[in-house]
Amino acid sequence: MSKYGVISEDTRLFLSRGNHGMIIDGELVPAISGMTIETFNPSTGESLGFIAAGDEADVNLAVHAARRAFQGEWSTWTPYDREALLLRAVDLFERHFEELIEIESLDMGAPIASMRRSKESHVRRMRYFAAMALNVRGETLPHGLGKNVHAMTIKAPVGVVGGIIPWNGPLGGQWWVMGAALATGCTTVLKPAEDACLSVIRMVELMREIGLPKGVVNVVTGYGATAGAALARHPDVDRIAFTGSTVTGRKIIEGSMVNIKRLQLELGGKSPDIVFADADLDKAVPGAAMGVFNNTGQVCFAGTRVLVQREIVNEFTARVGEFAKTVRVGRGLDPNSQLGPIVSQKQLDRVMSYIEIGEKEGAKLVTGGDRLRGELDNGYFVSPTVFGDVDSEMTISREEIFGPVLSIIPFDTIDDAIRIGNQTEYGLGGGVWTKNVSTALRVVNEIYTGTMWVNCYGLLDPLVGFGGTKMSGYGSKGGLAHLDNYLYTKCVYMQI
Ligand code: ADP
Repeated sequence: MSKYGVISEDTRLFLSRGNHGMIIDGELVPAISGMTIETFNPSTGESLGFIAAGDEADVNLAVHAARRAFQGEWSTWTPYDREALLLRAVDLFERHFEELIEIESLDMGAPIASMRRSKESHVRRMRYFAAMALNVRGETLPHGLGKNVHAMTIKAPVGVVGGIIPWNGPLGGQWWVMGAALATGCTTVLKPAEDACLSVIRMVELMREIGLPKGVVNVVTGYGATAGAALARHPDVDRIAFTGSTVTGRKIIEGSMVNIKRLQLELGGKSPDIVFADADLDKAVPGAAMGVFNNTGQVCFAGTRVLVQREIVNEFTARVGEFAKTVRVGRGLDPNSQLGPIVSQKQLDRVMSYIEIGEKEGAKLVTGGDRLRGELDNGYFVSPTVFGDVDSEMTISREEIFGPVLSIIPFDTIDDAIRIGNQTEYGLGGGVWTKNVSTALRVVNEIYTGTMWVNCYGLLDPLVGFGGTKMSGYGSKGGLAHLDNYLYTKCVYMQI
């Protein structure tokens, strides 16, 4: 038993370093400035040591390393070489899985039991990228230029990709960027969030054991406004993959203007989850509730606006309220926890202020709404919260809260549901619960959003993909389109 609770020897050894360096050109290094940022366990408020506070100078070094690697030996690796590296990474990940999830659970609070259950989905994502490495291909094209001309396209890697990663699931978040870079032959500089970056450092550090060449994947830690902004505006970065808030997304777009960077942006959400009177409530109640509470509500596609048909709104509200009370909130490493803490004091304050605004604006607090004290006093815990009688004009219906706060908005007809569902600047996720296929398909077709779930919420598979529209950003994750973000098309005309 360590001061962190029951953890493996590997995790204990990793944490005992105290200072967690960045990875630039294959080396674990401190920031050039020597500056650090203290990082905390959100379950207990205790220090987990220090991360390097990288800034523009460190980003420069990392980008140069990535450029050198891109132009060097890495460019001679065949698709089979890259596939083999990705498959070795799967093996490595499986071997170090317990350590990696313990580190992430301590760093951002995710419950260890749900992280264990997520193993297969992590592995699938990595295997998907390994398979994609063998599926980058151009075309031979017909044309009207005569039979002495041969025309074809080549799909070439865009170059150096900056990956700006959020704190709500860095172990998965890093693979969306790193996996695609390795599959296509790009190189990358990852900038994980200052609130949770330890699992990213550890994963990339371990990758060196399986033959990851120097400079192909670099990790710069530090604040968004310094390290993140320096990466977004760096003239030698060809592309940015960003997941985070819409406010920061705008800054990334501004930074990208320097050299017309390619962008993939997965931003905020305020997704509608629409429950019709004919829905199977035994499934819709826990499904809609966990569609919000999962990962303590720190999910960009959380279905936070639960639209419920008026005939069943009282029953549904009562049942969701009861369900919320059964959800076990506790420390990340507690195997019984279903929900962990909010990631930081700052985010906790933000969530609590939205709960206060909800009450002030006249929403009915059905359950929750309080910070958990007692033995959880030192962590950043909020009880799962349900608001009833919410109006679609209220602040809690419009702004992303990023906490376990569910709002029930009553509606009468399918037209109302679609109108209210679309009353948002975001377009990331959406759900519909009904036994009627026509109702389901009409909602699927008319809600303006990148991903829809019918009689379920939050299912994801990289082969299918996931993405947003409107102010939730663009450039889907997964599916066949994902790799296109990392490739450019070269059109070749050959006179023969
Ligand atoms: P949140 O507000 O939920 O922390 P952010 O969008 O600010 O979400 O953070 C997501 C990621 O973006 C983090 O890695 C963060 O460090 C980074 N980031 C924050 N601000 C900037 C910025 N101005 N430029 C580039 N990256 C940033």
